[in-house]
Amino acid sequence: MASALSDRLSRIVKEMRGQARITESNVTDMLREVRMALLEADVALPVVRDFIARVKEKALGQEVVGSLTPGQALVAIVHRELAATMGEGVADINLAAQPPAVILMAGLQGAGKTTTTAKLAKHLIEKRKKKVLTVSGDVYRPAAIEQLKTVTAQAGAEWFPSTPDQKPVDIARAAIDHARKHYFDVLLVDTAGRLAIDEALMREIQELHAVLKPVETLFVVDAMQGQDAINTAKAFKDALPLTGIVLTKLDGDSRGGAALSVRQITGAPIKFAGVSEKIDGLEVFDADRHAQRVLGMGDILALVEQVTAGVDMAAAQKLAAKVKSGQGFDLNDFLDQLRQMKQMGGLSSLMDKLPAAMAAKAGEVDMSRAEKDIKRKEGIICSMTLSERRKPEIIKATRKRRIAAGAGVQVQEVNRLLKEFEQMQDMMKKMKGGGMMKMMKRMGG
Ligand code: GDP
Repeated sequence: MASALSDRLSRIVKEMRGQARITESNVTDMLREVRMALLEADVALPVVRDFIARVKEKALGQEVVGSLTPGQALVAIVHRELAATMGEGVADINLAAQPPAVILMAGLQGAGKTTTTAKLAKHLIEKRKKKVLTVSGDVYRPAAIEQLKTVTAQAGAEWFPSTPDQKPVDIARAAIDHARKHYFDVLLVDTAGRLAIDEALMREIQELHAVLKPVETLFVVDAMQGQDAINTAKAFKDALPLTGIVLTKLDGDSRGGAALSVRQITGAPIKFAGVSEKIDGLEVFDADRHAQRVLGMGDILALVEQVTAGVDMAAAQKLAAKVKSGQGFDLNDFLDQLRQMKQMGGLSSLMDKLPAAMAAKAGEVDMSRAEKDIKRKEGIICSMTLSERRKPEIIKATRKRRIAAGAGVQVQEVNRLLKEFEQMQDMMKKMKGGGMMKMMKRMGG
């Protein structure tokens, strides 16, 4: 998924070059690509629709700042919205309850409940210094009870025995009682799963919930479930007040879309991600990082911030107005633009923040050389008089030699700059406005 989505997004960025702002007409094309990408990533259709509507609302009419193209700006909005949908920041486990804090594990069979129960036990022991007890309510599969016993031992936690002839609610009561008497901080309750949603299963886990009054009810879901995740999520959300999600098997070749679907459908935060079969393969879920991983696009947000912070908006608008009104674009404007590019923190640091795909394409240009080139051009223009900057055509051979000497460059470089400037002036006349920064980049490189 990562490559499909970032490919589509970088195509958007390319196609939107030279357009000044995000409008109703260009946003439709761009969003079609985003929509395809999300569907390819296995995000459920209703979730995609909602997501697209939100992005559209945020994007429409937004002025595109600095050297960002509308495509880049849209990608940044998509990224931000993706991260926001998957949950802001990090949501750790809640243990604020009279001990034992009960954590109920819910989910389909094979989702990874038993494995996650043990991983979570280990996490709580090591990171939160808790005394942890586990118990299995899966009375249908004796092997499941044994499996929990084994993995609980691996986690260094204690296991409370249960047998297939007991009722799950009786097991629950006995386990709580034991946990209280022996001063356990946390009781983790693994439950029976079915291969598909069924009513008896849902009723059973609702009864368990009523008896246990858990502080956390975690919905464990396999990231590889893709489109189906949405139905499972809906069923569990309707049956139980979910407080969190554990997304398992993110290490497999899941396309990542389940994170978006499940989070949106349940409204519950994704708290953990399962990243291996091993007992330590559990990570606290970080939405921002996951969005980036899913998009495969580097820190686009930092790029946007840097560009908006660095650009002198007033100067940029003055220049745009000037070009639009048909007034000449002179070397002073050129100098302003060069300086703005420098203010943005250097081209190579900007390049570092671009998505891998875009950066790879741009990587053909040696950015540090481009930066030095900008400095030399700045030096040349600064060696000219004000009237020469306004009317470069008055610069004669003797003046060129003096300018070159002042800037510490060869005369040929002065000629080259003047020629580039002329070409640019020509283009400016044709363009009247949009894409100026883009062109400056070309001049700088
Ligand atoms: P349960 O039926 O919901 O209790 O599921 P299990 O805990 O028995 O897990 C089902 C299978 O998924 C087992 O083979 C686990 O080893 C595997 N599994 C669980 N979580 C992960 C994970 O995060 N990554 C990988 N690769 N495998 C996992």
